[in-house]
Amino acid sequence: MNRIVIHYSEIALKGKNRRQFEGALIRHVRAALGPLVSEVRKQQGRLVCKPNPQADPQRVREILACIPGIVNFSLGHSAPKDVVSIGGRAVNLLAGREFTTFGVKTKRTDKQFPMTSEEISRAVGASILRGLKGKQVDLRAPDLWLYIELTGKEATLFTDKYLGPGGLPVGSSGDVMVSLSGGIDSPVAAYMLMKRGCRAIFTHIRNETQFSGAVSDKIEKLVEVLTRYQLHSTLYQVPFGDLQRRIIAFVPADHRMIIYRRCMMRILNQLAAKDQAKAIVTGDAVGQVASQTLSNLQCIQEASQLPVLSPLVGMNKDETILLAKQIGTFEHSIEPYPDCCSFMIAPHPETRGVLDLVKQFEANIDGLEELLLEAVENVERLEFS
Ligand code: ATP
Ligand code: MG
Repeated sequence: MNRIVIHYSEIALKGKNRRQFEGALIRHVRAALGPLVSEVRKQQGRLVCKPNPQADPQRVREILACIPGIVNFSLGHSAPKDVVSIGGRAVNLLAGREFTTFGVKTKRTDKQFPMTSEEISRAVGASILRGLKGKQVDLRAPDLWLYIELTGKEATLFTDKYLGPGGLPVGSSGDVMVSLSGGIDSPVAAYMLMKRGCRAIFTHIRNETQFSGAVSDKIEKLVEVLTRYQLHSTLYQVPFGDLQRRIIAFVPADHRMIIYRRCMMRILNQLAAKDQAKAIVTGDAVGQVASQTLSNLQCIQEASQLPVLSPLVGMNKDETILLAKQIGTFEHSIEPYPDCCSFMIAPHPETRGVLDLVKQFEANIDGLEELLLEAVENVERLEFS
């Protein structure tokens, strides 16, 4: 490998913003690959990187597969821009590979080149047939495709395309505040927004029992995994013990969950305002648990000034689990921990919250505003890279 070719699509469609999107992607790729590459440059609707000779291809693949905005990428080889050289390089490249049938696909953005894509493919195919014994061309379902791209000053050859997350580069859509529990859903929700170009800031509302150390470890592990997709993350952990106790003292058990989550919304909004995040992100999916009926979601979200984005809203649990496994958060999410809400969950929580009643209960809580302020003041902040 002496070239890495990175394809993006959606960001190419963004008209005037295109430069900004490409800039964000280039910065991310540069920072993520670091010393593995000596150069990353834009070349006619794609990025081309020069890997350092000792760069481990496996490592490069792991890194690029996590960068939002990348649709697919390939580890390839360069050749001078003439069919004889390309043919020779193709033979070298395929000599060690096991295959019988093959096809060649050429893309040519250099329209000055004296041959059409079709002609180049045929000429290189012929070189391969001459250079390697027992091979056949099959353009329908070959064992192996050889891709050739002619752009700029050289040709690039590669055989395998690896998928990236697609979507938009992180940082191109602004910041969001993610409400991160230790569960399966909210880390996936964060990933979905990062894939749409948002930088995620994380807030965990911390239950304060004797187990809080274990929960904290788990949350940090989750943020570490999610940081692969955006390079740098901030995690806020907010003490919630005093608020919990106060809510228990003043609110009937069946309504505690709703009020608990309304308080979380207020805390999230205050932290978001400080960091200029534009929305709150939660892992809610309609109907999944008691707090996620439409009436309860209405009661909870009413406490937020910022829009609340819940990208899993229409997903089934098994679909979310599949994604959690793919992005690497699942194994941490299922580590046992005392659910922050468990001692507040009533055996029969209200599933049809009525906003007026919820507000009445809330108004009864002594000193709620002070406790909310205190919680925000005592936030702990951690940075991840
Ligand atoms: P998850 O798997 O994300 O925990 P869940 O299906 O268990 O979701 P709930 O526990 O009702 O559902 O939580 C719904 C959403 O509320 C979570 O996805 C998360 O965004 C937010 N949330 C719940 N608990 C906390 C917490 N302790 N700190 C921050 N956010 C939380
Ligand atoms: Mg949960």
